Amino acid sequence: MNVQEHKIGILRIDRSGLAAAYKIKELGGVPFLSELKIANMIEGSENIIKEFDCEFGEHTERLLECDTIIVSPGISLDIPILRKAKEKNIHLISEIEFGFLIKHPESKIIAITGSNGKSTTVSLIHYILQTAGYNSVLAGNIGMAFCSYPIEKPGIDFIVLELSSFQLELIDKFKPDVAAILNITPDHLNRYNNFDDYALAKFNIFRNQDKSDLAILNLDDTMSLKHRNKLDPKYFSLNSKTDIYFDGKQIKFGSELLNIDNSTIKGPHNIANIMASILAVSPFGISNKTIEKSLSTFASLPHRLEFVAEINGVKFVNDSKATNTESVKYALQSFDKPIRIIMGGGGKGEDYTVLNPYLKKYARKVYLTGETRLEMKKAFNGSVELAVIENFEETIRIAFKEASAGEYVVLSPACTSYDMFNNFEERGNRFKEIVLKLKNES
Ligand code: ADP
Repeated sequence: MNVQEHKIGILRIDRSGLAAAYKIKELGGVPFLSELKIANMIEGSENIIKEFDCEFGEHTERLLECDTIIVSPGISLDIPILRKAKEKNIHLISEIEFGFLIKHPESKIIAITGSNGKSTTVSLIHYILQTAGYNSVLAGNIGMAFCSYPIEKPGIDFIVLELSSFQLELIDKFKPDVAAILNITPDHLNRYNNFDDYALAKFNIFRNQDKSDLAILNLDDTMSLKHRNKLDPKYFSLNSKTDIYFDGKQIKFGSELLNIDNSTIKGPHNIANIMASILAVSPFGISNKTIEKSLSTFASLPHRLEFVAEINGVKFVNDSKATNTESVKYALQSFDKPIRIIMGGGGKGEDYTVLNPYLKKYARKVYLTGETRLEMKKAFNGSVELAVIENFEETIRIAFKEASAGEYVVLSPACTSYDMFNNFEERGNRFKEIVLKLKNES
């Protein structure tokens, strides 16, 4: 894409929108930026106003003078200005599509989506590629935006992208060399009409792939199998023999065996993530020795079953990134003892009762806080001991007070953090701060 030949609009001045704007400018184009928030609510707006043609506080019809609009993943395609843009046949794309259109042809793309495990999997793939000596960058939903890197220049071997269903809604020519859906479980049902629409948005990841590309699916995932159609993917599984699978002890990949005893990430969900990662790098001639070395030195990510501290024999674990019920199911199965679990936050339209059998089996007590606390209380009533506490700090204090040595207190909310925090990192950091305060007090 030659940006100088297009009038490109950018809808919303967020991390990826701004990265695209700077890239267009760098390449000699003149983007138009439109943001609903007023200027002083946007960090660095003074500079942005100096550098770009932009508007704040509303999306005016000026956007409709563009032939292409890069739409932020957080924006519903149903807002009036986008409906008008569609009527005028303006090309609506995501920053991911734009990055693809301008990237250097020799940089390969590995794109990963799924309801859970994306960040862990892309980080591991990126780390294996780096350990093997490749120049790899990690972008998309994690780390920096795709367009923040010098992607138009030669020299980047791999671009590993973490993609949400929102980013995949607005792709057109995006064609990853390797693409995977890790799993599809109910999430973001407040944005989609139904579960199938959400799954189909994810399947967009394979849309332009051809025989020279690799598609990866989870053989254990019902929704992935339901929508796979004519796709000819490679599969990974925790339960059945397939292209790559776990036999209860080791990973079997064709005739090869991989030892994961020394892996720094544990639990069945992480074995699935490891298998998806091995498949994703399989076309690139990386030895098992390099993969095993990568697994044993990979630094697991914060806020995902992250051990925080032990106080008087009680272990605290921060799983603030668990923003849906599926990840909480895995959290509950990842410990050798029943746990005291702190749940609740902002709702996403999920049915919490699916957790009842797991809570019954693995939880000693559930501490509910945040906006969804009463809805969750109703959903869990009768299956497990419950406490409902409004204040976040108080919740952690009470869970600690009631815990005995040898037990775990785990923050694994099954909800977004937006009721009380800006993001899941802030919630996880607050949890860690409070735990460290408790440690100092005792
Ligand atoms: P994502 O980026 O898709 O949100 P993360 O790797 O950040 O995924 O993990 C988010 C949460 O999901 C963590 O709490 C983790 O325990 C859980 N999780 C990780 N991998 C999986 C998986 N393959 N299946 C289900 N849950 C998972």
